[in-house]
Amino acid sequence: MRRLLRVTEPVDLGAVDPRSTPGLPDRAVTGEHRKAWARAQVGLLGAELARQQEMLYATAKAAEAGRHAGPPARRVLLVLQAMDSGGKDGTIKRVAGAMNPLGLHIRSFGPPTPEELRHAFLWRIRRALPPPGYVGIFNRSHYEDVLVARVASLVPEATWRARYDEINAFERDLAEEGVTLVKVLLHISYAEQGARLLARLDDPRKHWKYNPADIDARARWDDYQAAYADALGRCDTDAAPWFVVPADRKWYRDWAVAHLLHETFDTLRLGYPPAGFDVARERERLRSGGAVADGTVEVNGR
Ligand code: AMP
Ligand code: MG
Repeated sequence: MRRLLRVTEPVDLGAVDPRSTPGLPDRAVTGEHRKAWARAQVGLLGAELARQQEMLYATAKAAEAGRHAGPPARRVLLVLQAMDSGGKDGTIKRVAGAMNPLGLHIRSFGPPTPEELRHAFLWRIRRALPPPGYVGIFNRSHYEDVLVARVASLVPEATWRARYDEINAFERDLAEEGVTLVKVLLHISYAEQGARLLARLDDPRKHWKYNPADIDARARWDDYQAAYADALGRCDTDAAPWFVVPADRKWYRDWAVAHLLHETFDTLRLGYPPAGFDVARERERLRSGGAVADGTVEVNGR
């Protein structure tokens, strides 16, 4: 899936069908009920993701305790971008919902606060990074600063133009610090957005999700698509790749994002950290009610 969904250059989002399902096995595997099949797969994948996440967390905890001298503790950061109603919240609910909340670091980005506006645009992003061992999820991100900031002319053109290079430098630094980035555009169609916004208006329980400003952004659809194409084209690097997930079908979207995360974890070759104590001796201490001395010092040779 990482190969299949990786953005290709020149970026042409119009060529990616939001209803398509790249990588989905054919009906011989899924049966007629592809939606049910994909949902069940996300459940199974979720259990595997939870295990991988636990290894990431455990490795960082062991390193923190100074018991495990290895490479710097890693973190994974999933960046989700989409047009309004593109499915960022739903993806988090389904995919992150399958993992252990203890190891998750989920942050959403709205319009900058007055305090945030007093700093450079990456300031609030740095503060929101996941600690070592955590899986971070960004619901919107620094990319808003080359998307809405550009389309709605929130800053002069020279300012947003300079940001692509700033973002690339920032993400390169992150990669060196052990952050594995997975950047995902949930790609929905204009028609699907219209249907989802209407559904929000039709259901009083969904009014909280609706923002009249969403219509202003929708009116600038082509400009947003162009801004997305530039952002993905300019900021797709091997250290911080961009993936385009067709997202009109929610069940495919969740299945694809779960796979992207799973494959990303695989590239990290995670394992459980070795015990920082003498397991046999601890067993003996437990049995004897603590009469045997703690062996940690001898084990670590410190
Ligand atoms: P939502 O994701 O529905 O909660 O909406 C968040 C809103 O915040 C969207 O309209 C974004 O365009 C807006 N937003 C996020 N980041 C920025 C930013 N850096 N500058 C301006 N608006 C932003
Ligand atoms: Mg919204």
